[in-house]
Amino acid sequence: MNLTSLKENLGLSSRDAKFFRKLDDQSVECYLCPRHCKIKDEKGGFCKVRWNEGGNLKTLNYGVSVQMTQEVIETEAVNHFAPGTPILSLGNVGCMMNCDYCHNWKTSQMREVNLKDIHHYTPEQVVATALEKNIKILSWTYNDPVVWHEFVYDTAKLARKHGLINLYKSAFYIGPEAIEELLEVIDIFSISLKSLNPEIYLKTTKGQLQPVLDGIKQVYKSKRHHLELSNLVVTDSTDKMEEIERLVSWILTELDSTVPLHLVRFHPDYKYTYVERTSIEFLKKARERALEMGLKHCYLGNVYESGEWLNTHCQSCDEVLVKRFGLQTQTPGLSSDGSCLNCGQKSSIVTLSSSPVIPKISTNDDFTNSKFISWTSEANAAHLVAKNNSTDSKSFRFRHLGKEEFSEIGLTPGEKWRFLISRDNHSSQGIEISFPEQISVEFLEVLDRAHFPVS
Ligand code: SF4
Repeated sequence: MNLTSLKENLGLSSRDAKFFRKLDDQSVECYLCPRHCKIKDEKGGFCKVRWNEGGNLKTLNYGVSVQMTQEVIETEAVNHFAPGTPILSLGNVGCMMNCDYCHNWKTSQMREVNLKDIHHYTPEQVVATALEKNIKILSWTYNDPVVWHEFVYDTAKLARKHGLINLYKSAFYIGPEAIEELLEVIDIFSISLKSLNPEIYLKTTKGQLQPVLDGIKQVYKSKRHHLELSNLVVTDSTDKMEEIERLVSWILTELDSTVPLHLVRFHPDYKYTYVERTSIEFLKKARERALEMGLKHCYLGNVYESGEWLNTHCQSCDEVLVKRFGLQTQTPGLSSDGSCLNCGQKSSIVTLSSSPVIPKISTNDDFTNSKFISWTSEANAAHLVAKNNSTDSKSFRFRHLGKEEFSEIGLTPGEKWRFLISRDNHSSQGIEISFPEQISVEFLEVLDRAHFPVS
């Protein structure tokens, strides 16, 4: 795809990029990520969203995003910061990697993305939306925020000024100079460390392992940031006990035993549609081994079964502090300051002073229309997209099938809102939504954490 068609097809425009040096013949070298693309005039880098225009590096995706979506912090493989808290997730197009199993490949590799999936936001609009919805945490996620650096930095800086918290979910294939900037504005890093085996890493992601390890250490050494790691355990690739042991040994040697690790179940996608889902039995054994080796907290991701692998226990008296099922969270043993309610021991869980409550708009609607989504073994969560097509405020309501109580959400005239719903227990069948005729509703199945399904 050339620059003109890229701009026309996706409505992208150029803006000055950071982190490049000029070379001979109007070429530039980009060092935002360790790939260090050398880009000739009128050509783009590996990520497809940074281009050389007349001897200067430009970013094409400033403010270009998929629709802002309300999720919960556990969606981003973060279990030790404000459990159960709503987040406002944003992602864009392009990526500095090309992982064979990417579940966001339509946006990351810019294939099958159409204008309907693309939104244009300013930093002010993102911050205003979070404040209006009373969502305290912005999450930079999905395809990968690295190639969106300029917009992420500007918006996160503004968000900080308004008391918001920034979460960065990434494969972290990023240069040290850009990390230094992130350390100024990001509060929570959730890093996807795909493998500790350099050959597997290169083969499946097309990136080098060492810069990722260096980047994680750079964040860890700052000692000012919340850090959690996740590892996608892929069938016939990283689902080997020696791979898990190599990963855990590195964490214990280079970081410490309190850094939470999430072992995430793979689902078939992109070039790996022929590969089976990871065995849950293996994941349970891998978690046991990680704990046996000395990690304090190891969780399973993308596993919708009741069990200990998602709960957090007090390290002193073993009381259950946080109980989880899938992406649903309860905090029976956790006090508001993050201590154990049973023995008073301070846990490593960061709590927010008060739980944000999403404001409601009161309306008097007839909920004449209904739609249902049923959970399957593959789809245990979905994005619900609701649009108010009228000039009055309208509301819709939804409930887990079999439950009496509805939750109600109001939409201002013309407003479109997207949010995550998920299975709340093993026997749960699905979700029912009721809405007036002026509201249109769409369900999109979410197959993985930080998965953004496009329409
Ligand atoms: S950010 Fe993009 S252009 Fe820059 S080095 Fe990485 S892949 Fe290449």
